Amino acid sequence: MENNKSSLKGRTVYIPRMSYEGARAMAAALHAIGIDAQPVPPSDHTTLTFGKKFSSGDECHPQTVTLGGFMKLLEQPGFDPKKAAFLMPMAGGPCRFGQYSVYVKKVLDQLGFSNILVFSPTGENSYDGFGDEGKGFARIAWRAVVASDILRKLLLKTRPYESTPGTTDAVFNQSLDLICEAIGKRCNSSKEHMEYLINALTVTRDRFRQIPCNYDKTKPLIGVVGEIYCRLDDFANEEVLRVIEAQGGEVWIADISEWIWYTNFRQMGVLRDKGKRFSKLMLAAKIKNFIQHRDEQALLSLFREDFRGYEEPHHVKQVLDKSLPYLPHYGALGEMTVSSGKAMYLYEKGIDGIVDVSPFTCMNGIVCEAVYPKISREHDNIPMKVFYFDGTRSDWDRDIGIFIELAKNYQQKKIKQRVYPNYFLTKQEKSATLAHI
Ligand code: SF4
Repeated sequence: MENNKSSLKGRTVYIPRMSYEGARAMAAALHAIGIDAQPVPPSDHTTLTFGKKFSSGDECHPQTVTLGGFMKLLEQPGFDPKKAAFLMPMAGGPCRFGQYSVYVKKVLDQLGFSNILVFSPTGENSYDGFGDEGKGFARIAWRAVVASDILRKLLLKTRPYESTPGTTDAVFNQSLDLICEAIGKRCNSSKEHMEYLINALTVTRDRFRQIPCNYDKTKPLIGVVGEIYCRLDDFANEEVLRVIEAQGGEVWIADISEWIWYTNFRQMGVLRDKGKRFSKLMLAAKIKNFIQHRDEQALLSLFREDFRGYEEPHHVKQVLDKSLPYLPHYGALGEMTVSSGKAMYLYEKGIDGIVDVSPFTCMNGIVCEAVYPKISREHDNIPMKVFYFDGTRSDWDRDIGIFIELAKNYQQKKIKQRVYPNYFLTKQEKSATLAHI
């Protein structure tokens, strides 16, 4: 498999919907270096039919969904395999994700589509391989990840309180177009690119601030952790975020950049293990980490007040340190250590319950399910539950509804209280705060 720009040039890169906004933003990042790209079309029941037709049943749900999405594309009128590339990142560690791209390639070969490029940056080098695709691409792609994470966060913290249903989704879609336009600009410098993105995010922030809302402190805030693809693809998780909202909750979901921070951390750990603590590779990894942190802070600084009380960890170590007594990162590896650590980080932020979104048979979800009862007992009995998804069920209202009731009960007696942004405060609370100052 050839992963270089000449092989992507002249092709359209199709990106799985590990969140629609994430896929759109990544497509825009590729546009910025002159490569055509777009998200895989929306999934429907035929996606699963195709996915299952070309798999054995032992694969994870995200693989069935992503494979089915690619297979559906093959049927589209006018689809030209010579001009297509399928993006399928890889990761090492204790799960089947490392096999996805190999499997997709095998199925395409069997069907006579070996001329489709399966493009696979890997988590082993923190997806640096993707960065070689074009000058400055890694940085643009990182900003795309951060910007789409920010937009998702704005959506989820606003939509449950909107006065008129549908307003937030409309603002979200307009803003996504605006942000993608900024990300996709062909710029002469990184500084110029950043300016476009900051302008787009400032307009986005102000649009969200103008959405009429009725904020309510009694609405339970539910942390959503779990398998990265399943928790972020609305089709794979059967719109569970909207179900939580419909049942009376607000969602705080673990974002994509968290995983990138984790792969950075792992990359440096692997270098240390190989005796390369003082090496050019380590230096490059540290510089990249530093620049990513600086870019992230520059974008997040626009939202200081909006995200008051919703702050993400400054360093992934804050998350991994919390999972040490349960699933230590040096032994457990991967999503299970990140999910369990993030659950405890969210507990400290005063969240009211933790939902772990897991594909059926995912070992990360199964291992987390084994330790969550102990974590819950040792953290004031905060409700924690793994929900498994395999595309065969569509009615989650009852189970999620019960969970929301548990979260409401916990909310009444919890020890860790939330910090609320100013827009949550009543007039009296605001004047009391001002008087205090
Ligand atoms: S995390 Fe779970 S669902 Fe995802 S690839 Fe690994 S085993 Fe499969």
